[in-house]
Amino acid sequence: MHFNELNLSEELIRAVDELGFEEMTEIQQQSIPVLLQGHDVVGRSNTGTGKTAAFGIPAVESITEDEKRSAAVLILCPTRELAMQACEEIRKFAKFKRSVKACAVYGGASMERQIMELKRGANIVIGTPGRVMDHIRRRTLKLEGLRTVILDEADEMLNMGFREDIESILSEVPEERQTVLFSATMPPEIMALTEKYQSEPVHIKIKSSQKTVELIQQFYFQVAMGRKTDALKLLLAAYSPDSAMVFCNTKKMVDELTEELVKSGFRAAGIHGDLKQIQRTQVMNSFKNRTTAVLVATDVAARGIDVSGIDMVFNYDLPQDNEYYIHRIGRTGRAGLAGKAFTLITGRKQLYALKDIARYTKAEISELPMPDKAYVAKLKTDALVKEIAEMDERPDASAFAVLDKLAENGIDYREAAARLISARLRSELAGLPEFEMPKPLKKGKRNGAKTVRIDLNIGRNKRIAPNFILGALVDATGMSGQDFGKIDIFDSHTTVEVPEDETDFILDSTNPMKINGHPVEVKLYKGSDKNNKKDRDRDFERPHSKHGKPDRRRAAFGNKKKTDMFGDYIPDRKKRMKKRH
Ligand code: ADP
Ligand code: MG
Repeated sequence: MHFNELNLSEELIRAVDELGFEEMTEIQQQSIPVLLQGHDVVGRSNTGTGKTAAFGIPAVESITEDEKRSAAVLILCPTRELAMQACEEIRKFAKFKRSVKACAVYGGASMERQIMELKRGANIVIGTPGRVMDHIRRRTLKLEGLRTVILDEADEMLNMGFREDIESILSEVPEERQTVLFSATMPPEIMALTEKYQSEPVHIKIKSSQKTVELIQQFYFQVAMGRKTDALKLLLAAYSPDSAMVFCNTKKMVDELTEELVKSGFRAAGIHGDLKQIQRTQVMNSFKNRTTAVLVATDVAARGIDVSGIDMVFNYDLPQDNEYYIHRIGRTGRAGLAGKAFTLITGRKQLYALKDIARYTKAEISELPMPDKAYVAKLKTDALVKEIAEMDERPDASAFAVLDKLAENGIDYREAAARLISARLRSELAGLPEFEMPKPLKKGKRNGAKTVRIDLNIGRNKRIAPNFILGALVDATGMSGQDFGKIDIFDSHTTVEVPEDETDFILDSTNPMKINGHPVEVKLYKGSDKNNKKDRDRDFERPHSKHGKPDRRRAAFGNKKKTDMFGDYIPDRKKRMKKRH
């Protein structure tokens, strides 16, 4: 269903068109008409299904000329980022509506500016509960004119402890009002809010379509610092996608990376918020018609981009927010097509951040080695065979004349074709960056992995137990409990066995650290007991089984579901190692 099938004003349809939205999402189809009629709504739908527009469009549409001077719609969001984003999107919907003034209020930003904006007659106010309360108490936000209150991500707001603020806001807003609540989950606390503050709400629940994240095969590559661009070039060359998106965190990075890729001969273009609308449209059109194969983008610029059939998404920079990860990779594999998402990782910290994303999205993200030259050559050869076999080029007479001439000079057809093919392959492989073969994975990490001890200046005298230590270390590093070994608590200090190659990371992330309220200093343990063979052979036995039995550390995060398709593409390391000699 298209937006123009609803009875929306022409100004709104224009704005939605400019955003590049075509079809409505399910939650939008179901909520927008009901909200426009003024009903209370409880909406449930997954992340990334367009809830902002689901409530934002009716909000913008409902503002009347009489409401020009004060707040009519209040939208509560759990974080300042979400408030800012929602405000930005609502402003876009309101682009051609002069009577709508949206304003975001959130903590950690200048109060004066927000007061100014409110005074200038903001009629859609988007804010975090705490700051909204602040403005209500100062009377800089007046509730008399409010007729719609929307709670976005209500469950998240409750989780964050905003219950009291929300309740006091709701009880102060005039009772004659529309109350709307969007939430990913419906715990009892939300039901209670609904009972207490809504009247005959319409319940809208969208079954989670597995579409997005589930159908997308997700991989990551670990590359050395400073080699991400090379890695990207190699991957683009190896897989030669018709259509790929590459995400960066900054506009500057988008520009630099695009320039690099273009210089290396890729059909790449960049898009970010500094481009003028006309440039954006040009870039988008060339990406849609496949003139541009690689679109480099920031998260903000990518919002609202809906190009179907994107083969792969690259996270050149790790997204700053777990939600962004879902939004980014959701670009590929649309409409039931399997897509692939690749994330480039440098350093331990990013690895753990990715692990966190995997946990949050409940996705499996598997490690792949960077393809080596032999492997890329194989891919290129396969592609060339396919290309020639499927060519509908009809050679004309002159081509055969060339072959005849060559034959006269003693070069037969086979030789001639082989020369052309190898020249083509050589040029395709020329100048490709190379990566060292990764070391074979250590089996189960701890077995055989070299360990050292770290020393914490806290001990029995502070009444600490091993699980306090382990908990604090896991918390500070994001590593798994199983990564830590034997914990020995002495009177005034404690030693913990850790994998040697994680030492720097651990020291880096644990200073400063507090355990049980005591500041703790973590150092490498110098009083080495390397002669104590018995001790070393205990091989990381953990004194506590709180975290369950140790499992072998896998190169994939998250829930193992199915074998990855790239198993076909990339022979496993052992086979490749053998082939090489
Ligand atoms: P949610 O709040 O449900 O997680 P958002 O409102 O943040 O989802 O929307 C996710 C992304 O989808 C945004 O980039 C938004 O601009 C885009 N989007 C929303 N509705 C549509 C639509 N009908 N067509 C295309 N893109 C859309
Ligand atoms: Mg949202």
